[in-house]
Parts: sequence; structure tokens; C-alpha cells
Amino acid sequence: MNHLCLGCGICAAICPQERIRMVFSARDGYFIPTAGFEDCEIACGLCERVCPFVPENPGPVDIAGQLFAKIPSIQKDDVLGYYLQTLAGYSTEHRPKSASGGLLTWILETLLRRGEIDGAVCVGPDPKSPLLFDFRICRSVEDIRACSGSCYQPVELSRALRQVLAQDGRYAVVALPCVARGLRLAMRSNDQLQARIHMIFGLVCGQMKSRHFIEYLVHKYAARDYPSRICFRHKRSNHPASDYAYRFVWENRRILDLGWTEDIARPWGERWFTLEACDYCDDVFAECADAAFMDAWLPQYAADLRGHSLLLVRNPLVGKILPRMQDAPLTLEPIDRWAMLASQSGLIHQKRILTAYHGASPHHPKRIPGIRTSRRKRRPDHKLEAWTKARIRVLTRFGILEHSRAGERRIKLLSIPWSMARLLAGLARPIRRRIRNQISRD
Ligand SMILES: Cc1cc2nc3c(=O)[nH]c(=O)nc-3n(C[C@H](O)[C@H](O)[C@H](O)COP(=O)(O)OP(=O)(O)OC[C@H]3O[C@@H](n4cnc5c(N)ncnc54)[C@H](O)[C@@H]3O)c2cc1C
Ligand code: SF4
Ligand code: SF4
Ligand code: SF4
Repeated sequence: MNHLCLGCGICAAICPQERIRMVFSARDGYFIPTAGFEDCEIACGLCERVCPFVPENPGPVDIAGQLFAKIPSIQKDDVLGYYLQTLAGYSTEHRPKSASGGLLTWILETLLRRGEIDGAVCVGPDPKSPLLFDFRICRSVEDIRACSGSCYQPVELSRALRQVLAQDGRYAVVALPCVARGLRLAMRSNDQLQARIHMIFGLVCGQMKSRHFIEYLVHKYAARDYPSRICFRHKRSNHPASDYAYRFVWENRRILDLGWTEDIARPWGERWFTLEACDYCDDVFAECADAAFMDAWLPQYAADLRGHSLLLVRNPLVGKILPRMQDAPLTLEPIDRWAMLASQSGLIHQKRILTAYHGASPHHPKRIPGIRTSRRKRRPDHKLEAWTKARIRVLTRFGILEHSRAGERRIKLLSIPWSMARLLAGLARPIRRRIRNQISRD
């Protein structure tokens, strides 16, 4: 395969000859397809046409344009994509077990109760999977509730999507932005998928880590092998919503909680174990989805440990359901589009500024999709940040040198120039602001 791959499994589900299987690669730490267009004598090209990382395939702008541009009173923003409504809220009943405010579980459940869908394709715990999570079709409220929460592991969709192809019905699918794009491409090529996928609910997504991330954490903090259960969004009492914990549970009931601020933020933010495809992703708000859900990382919401979600609506059908749901135990209020953008400022920096430095390399051995960037002028500190994060990703690709301290030391050394550049940029900011104020006063 000469393009990027995240192991989403859509090519495997769509192959009419069932030639592609998704196999878990212990070396890479995620699923990879066993075959592809180049190795196939049938060469129908379908697997290539549905892949979200094939540069020649329609991108989020084209796909979203065809889906949403003609909707009356819809608005468009370069980063948000199309939007009808931007909202913040929570469901009192769902949020204790949900990732943030529980709006997504609530909407899936309500669609199912009202008979508007026959099943919801979600990700839930699966002890048999090497990642402890898998996609499945939920056909009851209990199933949907069992899937609430976030899975920060690279799960694949082929088995669930084949079930959708095998069984008539109307389905809602929860998908990361890249997977939502692949699903739209697959719906264009397959009439059954087009008829059966009623809605795609997108999750705002900053990156995906390989399984090595969890291997590293449990080895470092508990000197143990992979756990038997993981909760990625354990809400900690006395901590704000943004300072949740990863909770690991082993067979003997041993529990390890790793706090976001203390243990997770650094390897997460520096992109240790991040999949390569994520370095070339510019879709922040799941532009191909009917609605996008995200954490409410804004000061007025983030302090409440119970969690709030933000919701961006594109499909008027989603908008129509919402008012009817007001009688549910639900709090929902409109928010400014700028507030929604501000809630994802770090992610926008990564996906619309730093990605531009990766896309510039003509020497990459793989075909790289075109990347949209928000900044025309290049900054040396951003270039250094992008370079450092990419080097760390490569260093941690196959695990972190067997979790050795030497590996961690190399990462620390690698990030010293970037930390210094960050410090200098931070010091320069108030000086620049003062000069700008002075000029505007003059
Ligand atoms: C990999 C990843 C990265 C994310 N990054 C960000 C971010 O940078 N900023 C931000 O604001 N929000 C991010 N989110 C979204 C956030 O974690 C919540 O999912 C979102 O706020 C919805 O919360 P909720 O309480 O409404 O959802 P819930 O009620 O908890 O429902 C979540 C639903 O998402 C499904 N789901 C969980 N993981 C996956 C997955 N990997 N693929 C497909 N479906 C899944 C579950 O099955 C469930 O149905 C990310 C989510 C994921 C999975
Ligand atoms: S080219 Fe067609 S038959 Fe061959 S692997 Fe791809 S989808 Fe399957
Ligand atoms: S469709 Fe998904 S699994 Fe298949 S090659 Fe593309 S990214 Fe990989
Ligand atoms: S960052 Fe982009 S490519 Fe990576 S998992 Fe998220 S949506 Fe997919």
C-alpha cells in the first residue's frame, strides 16, 4: 500500500470478493488490512475508492459541500465546516457514565426509542479484542448505554459494517472524522450503505494512539501486562472535568488510576505513539458528519467534573429532534461559534498549523493527502514543534525501546529545543502585544 492507513476497516467491509481481512499487528499496535488494490488481480478499485487516506479521493470539503451546502440557512466556516447550530449541554441521566456531557448516548438512545433507527453502530468494551474495545451494532437502550465513554484505541469497523450490509434497517454510526469521511465514500459506492446509514455522528478528534501507548503506561506505572478493562474517562472527584483519569483494571481486581495532568498530558500532547496518518489530518470538526460532538473545554464548563458536551449540528433532521427532546432531563443552550472554535484551539493549532509542516515534504515514501492550513507565514518555533513531535512519533512507533528509561531520556533530549522555543515565544508574546497596542494608540 503506498498511501497512509489508520486501519479503519472500511475497505475490508466493502470488498465484494471478501479478499481483505483486518489483522491486528502487534508490531504496529493497530489493525492493518491484509491486501489491497495493488495486490489484487480483480482490481475493481473499490477498496481504494473508499479509503479516507487516498489523496485522489474527494476530501471533506467536496463531500460536505455535496451533503450540506444547499441546506437553507446553513453557514460555513473554514474550520468548523458547515453548521446550522452550535450548542452546549448535558444529559443528567447519561453524563455520569459518558465521556463528557452524555449528549451522544442520549441522542442515540432517543433515536432508537422513537424508532428512527434500528441500530446504533458504536464502540464498546470487548474483552476478546486485543484492544479491549470493538465496534458493534447496539439494538437496545442497554447496549447503547454500555458503549458510552471514549475509546482512545484504534478500533476497526469491518465486522460491524458487514453486518449493516447483511441486514436491512436504518443505522446511526458513531465515527472519528477520518472514518466519517471513509463512510461517506463507501456510501457513494454502495447503494445498500447509502440507504441504511441514516446518520453519521462525528467525534472531534485530535489523534489516535497505538496499543503501545497503554503498554507503555501500565509497564511504567504498574510494571504489569495489558489490563483486562480500561475506562479512558474516569471522572475524578475534586478534579475539574478536564482532569479525568485513565482507569486500568486487572483480573485480580487491581486498579490503577492515572491522572490526566500528572501522568497522561505529556505523552499525549507530545504525540508519543500517535499513528502516522494523524500527522496528515486537517479535519477538526468531523466535517462529513451530520453532527459533531466534543468536550466542552471552555472555562464556564470545564470546572464542573460531571462534564458538558458541545454539539455542532449540520443535518436539519438532528436539529428537528432536539426541540422535541426538551422535555427530557436535558440542558441545552446555544453557544457562539467562536466559543466552539476556542474550545478546540489546541487541536486547531495541531491540525491546521503544524500539519502544514508535514505536508510540505516531497520526499515522503507514501502518497500524502493535500492539507489545508490556516497560516500563510511560517514560524520557526512551529516548525520545530512539528519536527519534534514527528520525531517522537517515529521513536515510539514500535513501542518505546521496550519501555526503557533510555527511550524516555531520548525523548526528553529531543524536546529540549522545543521547550526552549516555547519559553521564548511565551516571553515574546506580551512584548509583541505591547508594541501592537502602542502602534494602534499612535
Ligand atoms: C480518539 C478520540 C479522540 C477525541 N479527541 C477529542 C478532542 O481532542 N477534543 C474534544 O473535544 N473531544 C474529543 N473526543 C470526543 C470526546 O472524547 C467525547 O467522545 C465527546 O465529547 C462526546 O461525549 P459524550 O459524553 O456526548 O459521549 P458519550 O455519551 O460518552 O458517547 C460516546 C459515544 O462515542 C462512541 N465512541 C467512543 N470511542 C469511539 C471511537 N474511537 N470511535 C467511534 N466511536 C467511539 C461510543 O461508543 C459512544 O457511543 C475524542 C474522542 C475520541 C474517541
Ligand atoms: S480491488 Fe476490488 S476485489 Fe480487489 S481487494 Fe480491492 S475491493 Fe477487493
Ligand atoms: S480504508 Fe481504512 S483500513 Fe483500508 S486502507 Fe484505507 S485507512 Fe486502511
Ligand atoms: S486525528 Fe484524524 S486521522 Fe487521526 S484518528 Fe483522528 S480523525 Fe482520524
